[in-house]
Amino acid sequence: MSTKSETLFNDAVQCIPGGVNSPVRAFRAVKRTPVFIDHAKGSHIYDVDGNEYVDYVCSWGPMILGHAYPSVVDAVKAACDNGLSYGAPTSKETVLANLILEAVPFMGKVRLVNSGTEAVMSAIRVARGYTKRDKIVKFRGNYHGHSDGLLVTAGSGLLTESNPDSAGVPKGYTATTLLADYNDVASVEALFNANKGEIAAVIVEPVSANMGVVPPKEGFLEFLRRITKDNGTLLIFDEVITGFRLAYGGASEYFGIQPDMITFGKIVGGGMPLAAYVGTDEIMEVVAPVGDVYQAGTLSGNPIAVTAGIEQLKALKADKDIYIRISEFASRLEQAYLEKGITVNRVGSLLSPFFTEANVNGYDDVLKCDTEKFAEYFKHMLDMGIYVAPSQFEAMFISDAHTKADLEKTIEAIKSF
Ligand SMILES: *Cc1c(COP(=O)(O)O)cnc(C)c1O
Repeated sequence: MSTKSETLFNDAVQCIPGGVNSPVRAFRAVKRTPVFIDHAKGSHIYDVDGNEYVDYVCSWGPMILGHAYPSVVDAVKAACDNGLSYGAPTSKETVLANLILEAVPFMGKVRLVNSGTEAVMSAIRVARGYTKRDKIVKFRGNYHGHSDGLLVTAGSGLLTESNPDSAGVPKGYTATTLLADYNDVASVEALFNANKGEIAAVIVEPVSANMGVVPPKEGFLEFLRRITKDNGTLLIFDEVITGFRLAYGGASEYFGIQPDMITFGKIVGGGMPLAAYVGTDEIMEVVAPVGDVYQAGTLSGNPIAVTAGIEQLKALKADKDIYIRISEFASRLEQAYLEKGITVNRVGSLLSPFFTEANVNGYDDVLKCDTEKFAEYFKHMLDMGIYVAPSQFEAMFISDAHTKADLEKTIEAIKSF
């Protein structure tokens, strides 16, 4: 007998490519079909067959307070009564902009957009417009959304599906994207030497979290800050995952480094489609309608999404011990993996177990992981009522709603694998 999820999936594949609206949801990497979600509350999600899971996907990061967090949901419901979209400015956009700038006080201005993809794509256009240079440097295994120029050795679903590149992206589109190795200083120096005066920006996930969690080596981010400054190149931190997660001020606060631009997504929208890019006043001067870099959006700064973002950021700002609690929770899980002899990387509340003997410091190490073993682990966890990302190359996301009982249940599941 098939489950309700299987039936729904069979219906979905008839009308949606692969039955999903984002590839990694398809569970292909773990050779299964996805569970369809009915609802979620706190740290738990419930599928259409009535199974309950402790959720470590948390919508891939946004639900840092847990699902259906009351102050966020109540504010969203109230906002709906005033209309869903106007295409004209509202005072709430300024409130959210200021909440974001409080996280990164060295920045000048914020532009709100609808997705992380859009935020990064726009930030890169701004960096090119500002520096009047074309080339950018990205790192193998870092994911910056699905815009054409950035789909080169990207992580996340591309790694899972083992497409090194996407079809449909003309060669010329990626010709200005230079590739370096994360945590490898020499690979970055070589690109700067070979492209003197031509590199507009270096974009990096300050903690890589789309090839599994890979922390920056001591001094690596400082090195990036130095070499970009010395070459008139902008440093862009893609904090779509790390922003408001490692600390309220994200990775720039956590590591004490000030990039020239930052992109936010995921947490900043409180679970709604909202993202942002920020830069210093001087850089953001180039953005239209003030400057000549065009970037626009019919639904950008949508009042409902902005409301969710404001309430989530307010809650995070009001109780910064959240960051201590979620890190401690992650550290207990880290301990459980280590006791089981499983390699694990952790930074704050972001962690990934890796099915490989060696330490994981970069993309080449990640590629050595045993994905068959991961698939077995995934099945075991799901059977035990633990929902982790269906891929070796993703982070586990902890929320403040995860309880002691969740922790014990998860440790039990790890022990019995
Ligand atoms: C998720 C992610 C993106 C893309 O964001 P979307 O909202 O999925 O478009 C970009 N950069 C990083 C680091 C991400 O994790």
